[in-house]
Amino acid sequence: MKISLSSDIGKHLSLMVLISLLGMVVLLYVVFDIFGNIYIEEKRNDSLKLTNTAVSIVDSFHRLEQKGEISAKEARLYSINTLRSSRYSDSGYFWINDLQGNIVMHPLMPALEGQNLIDYRDVNGIKPFDRFVSEAINGGGWVEYLWPKPDQPDSPTHKVSYVSLYEPWQWVIGTGVYMDEEAAAKNQLVLSSTHIVIIVLLSLIGFSFFSARQSARGIANFAIRDPLTQLYSRRYLNETEDRFVREDLRNKNNHLYILFLDIDHFKSVNDTYGHLEGDQVLKIVGSILRQSTRPQDLCVRYGGEEFVVLTLAKSDEDALHLAERLRYKTFSSDFESGTKITLSCGVAKRDKDESFANLLQRADANLYLAKKNGRDQIIFK
Ligand code: GH3
Ligand code: MG
Ligand code: MG
Repeated sequence: MKISLSSDIGKHLSLMVLISLLGMVVLLYVVFDIFGNIYIEEKRNDSLKLTNTAVSIVDSFHRLEQKGEISAKEARLYSINTLRSSRYSDSGYFWINDLQGNIVMHPLMPALEGQNLIDYRDVNGIKPFDRFVSEAINGGGWVEYLWPKPDQPDSPTHKVSYVSLYEPWQWVIGTGVYMDEEAAAKNQLVLSSTHIVIIVLLSLIGFSFFSARQSARGIANFAIRDPLTQLYSRRYLNETEDRFVREDLRNKNNHLYILFLDIDHFKSVNDTYGHLEGDQVLKIVGSILRQSTRPQDLCVRYGGEEFVVLTLAKSDEDALHLAERLRYKTFSSDFESGTKITLSCGVAKRDKDESFANLLQRADANLYLAKKNGRDQIIFK
């Protein structure tokens, strides 16, 4: 059975896949949002910690100065040089300005050193140095503004910096993070997550269609097979009988024969050994039929212990050979209960223009004769 998108199963699967896709998109959206917030929060904390580290470096030189190990000038020089040469990422650096907004140290724009930027405004009109000073005086804080990245000096980028005051020297020390890095990290996350989503989705689609096809096959098989013997059902015989008649008409070398088989005294098997043993006998006879016929023959469980075999044989001998093989194999099989099982069989060959129903009826009549003649035999008339 094929699964097409227009079938009910196909529609359900497509809907399921669509819902999963929507679910994943929503999930990704939520994840990205959370990620964005966490990322910004983390970066803000990073700049706070880094600024505090810078302050403690400066403080350590100041202490050396207080101990008299280095001069005041040296303490400032060493502090400036240490922070000037410190980097913590591609674009992460420290700068120092004083409370008046004069640049004390800027590692990337040394030309600014000594200049007063208190009234400098970014393109949005924000005066970052003015804010640095007020945040620093208030115990340290973050300032958002636009400032050029080291590798893009001409295009100011959204930046968040943490500034802290080193009181003894009245230095405002700061460092920050460029927010386009958050966008880049987010893009990277989008890219890898999209890959994962596509892989998961494709696997889901593949698996769903595979399992649906398997179940559809199972359902189809259930409808055409008898579950006990695994032979074809009577319903399937009705569906396929015309095909055998057409093949009989088409191919002059082959003729359609029906073998109508019935287990002898099966009722007494049930009565003597029980229904389960009876079922076992049916299963074994079913497998004898399947194993002794060709793939193009059709073996049907017609009723309780009655079987029909359709075969296109070259001659009466071939058809009778098959019937005899089935009879003999059953007769010589060992059954668990040790009982002997025999088959009676009526064989009929399709006459010119004969209907399938008539052919089947003649095979049944021959079976009746076989029973009447003493069973365990084949009648062909
Ligand atoms: P005969 O030689 O004339 O065919 O005698 P019989 O006993 O084989 O025939 P009868 O029609 O009297 O009995 C058939 C029995 O098959 C009766 C029924 O309970 C049994 N039967 C039908 N279907 C099943 C089945 O699926 N399992 C079992 N265990 N028994 C079944
Ligand atoms: Mg019987
Ligand atoms: Mg019967």
